[in-house]
Amino acid sequence: MAHRVTLIPGDGVGPELAEALETVIAATGVRIEFERCEAGAAVAERLGTPLPDDVVASVRRNRVAIKGPVSTPVGGGFRSVNVALRRALDLYACLRPTRSLAGVPSRYDGVDLVVVRENTEDLYAGSERMVDDDTAETVKRITRAGSERIARFAFEYARAHGRRKVTAVHKANIMKFTDGLFLRVARHVAAAYPDIEFDDRIVDALCMQLVQRPDEFDVLLLPNLYGDIVSDLVAGLVGGLGVAPGANIGTEAAVFEAVHGSAPDIAGRDIVNPVAFLLSAVMMLEHLGESEVARGVHDAVLAVVAEGRTVTADLGGTAGTQQMAAAVAARV
Ligand code: NAD
Repeated sequence: MAHRVTLIPGDGVGPELAEALETVIAATGVRIEFERCEAGAAVAERLGTPLPDDVVASVRRNRVAIKGPVSTPVGGGFRSVNVALRRALDLYACLRPTRSLAGVPSRYDGVDLVVVRENTEDLYAGSERMVDDDTAETVKRITRAGSERIARFAFEYARAHGRRKVTAVHKANIMKFTDGLFLRVARHVAAAYPDIEFDDRIVDALCMQLVQRPDEFDVLLLPNLYGDIVSDLVAGLVGGLGVAPGANIGTEAAVFEAVHGSAPDIAGRDIVNPVAFLLSAVMMLEHLGESEVARGVHDAVLAVVAEGRTVTADLGGTAGTQQMAAAVAARV
């Protein structure tokens, strides 16, 4: 039976990435029927909302989606579609495995880290207000239930994938209630996984140590905001956003997407690196139970990158996005 998957191309470079994805998926022979849905800034202009109800309904129905990036206006305008989708579908776990890839220029070799970011709470709850004309405030909300399920997710992931350690990241020295609760719950959950090492770091110290000694870390467990920031830092350790995949996972649905945004500075020029999006598709194929196809696409992407002949400019090549996708497709 064919898998039905919601495909949200999104804004900016998103449609180019969707095209690259379809080229590669077609070459694998795996039967996936994509249900295309529009979300983002372009659709907001037409329909008055960046996240029409039928998009959420489609993901609910299919339970699996792959999504291009969506632009979010800064300092005003509509609220993030990504945040809204994660909340509407309760996609509480953001999973970002990040590895050094042969052929990708970067300052480090052998980086192999997994970011597990809580996706629904913290400062992203959208509870913001102007107290008066000169004062603004945002509520940081952390719950025991939210902290517990993300901590369990991190430990279950570690166990299932043979990882050795989980590090909880926080600022509990300053935010004693919110981050203090997150840390206490992580410690409590850790006790149920004696086979996995557990430690914790204050987020600022973690950032320095990641840059100095990334090999000391394995799975990082973070509340929403630190998870967002540290994801980009970790992507930088392996050569940038062009190669960093991800997934948003809940109990009812999973949405796969690269870490990077809509890259408006390079949109429409056929130069966006498709690796992050294709590796997100590999995670999606695994989630669909298509492990062999996933392995095939994974190996094909890595081979094309390592060879370096048909890669985009950010990887030192001259190939276009679609040309690189065709090279991956030819290898599958
Ligand atoms: P960005 O990730 O879009 O781009 C940052 C820089 O990295 C740009 O110079 C871009 O050209 C480059 N870059 C990113 N991905 C690349 C790739 N695959 N290949 C080559 N170069 C790549 O971040 P930004 O500029 O801060 O954000 C742009 C828009 O994207 C904003 O509206 C932001 O809100 C949105 N955004 C969306 C998501 C999402 O949908 N998940 C995530 C982050 C940002």
